[in-house]
Amino acid sequence: SYALEISNLTKVYDNGFQALKGVELNVQQGDFFALLGPNGAGKSTTLGIVSSLVNKTQGVVKVNGFDLDTEREQVKRSLGVVPQEFNFNSFEKVIDIIVQQAGYYGLPTKLALQRAEKYLKQLDLWDKRNNQAVMLSGGMKRRLMIARALVHEPKILILDEPTAGVDIEIRRSMWRFLTELNAQGITIILTTHYLEEAESLCRNLAIIGAGNIIAQGATKDLLNEK
Ligand code: ADP
Ligand code: ADP
Repeated sequence: SYALEISNLTKVYDNGFQALKGVELNVQQGDFFALLGPNGAGKSTTLGIVSSLVNKTQGVVKVNGFDLDTEREQVKRSLGVVPQEFNFNSFEKVIDIIVQQAGYYGLPTKLALQRAEKYLKQLDLWDKRNNQAVMLSGGMKRRLMIARALVHEPKILILDEPTAGVDIEIRRSMWRFLTELNAQGITIILTTHYLEEAESLCRNLAIIGAGNIIAQGATKDLLNEK
């Protein structure tokens, strides 16, 4: 079965610019998948639509078998989303950010605290739980966003340029963590413009350029043409 099915997806922004021109994309359950392409290709727009952050113009999007138009709540519950920009209140404490997010999904406080502990420990942030988010380094903030996205234990984790602007050491530890999550059965879908990231991490990928999917398939088939 599919984690994500997109057919004939188009997006025309309010200013008339057509960012997506009929995107077709299928991601299998359990996959580690990259949407690879240069800046401006339409990666964020595509994942923004899937995550209900951007309205689509036309097309069909299904997440975990649920239709975005008619089953949006189930779509949202199936997904954890890690946006490109930090979008939490920087003056909140790390632990409160996670617990609050759990509240949005209706988790009882005790379970919320258990989940917060589990994911903050996994992401090496437990020592920082009582710090304000503003005190964290860039790499820590990104890990905080991942912990927050996992609190309702979604089947699919979506990350928009997860390692943009973080140094190589943090990048590698994030790669390790994402690989472990995927091994636990979570489907990972990320966007990247780093060829190396797609190549070393992802089993399958799609290459997007100017609002069209140019190629889709196994990473080893698409990128190992040396
Ligand atoms: P939607 O059609 O999804 O409602 P909008 O067209 O209203 O999106 O734009 C959303 C936001 O993105 C606006 O605040 C707009 O100013 C901003 N924006 C406009 N042009 C660009 C661009 N080229 N790249 C990124 N953001 C943009
Ligand atoms: P990528 O994530 O691949 O860098 P985006 O999906 O952010 O690409 O953007 C695709 C195209 O749509 C770009 O040309 C961008 O400038 C444009 N764009 C993005 N957001 C908006 C917006 N809100 N309004 C108008 N144009 C936008």
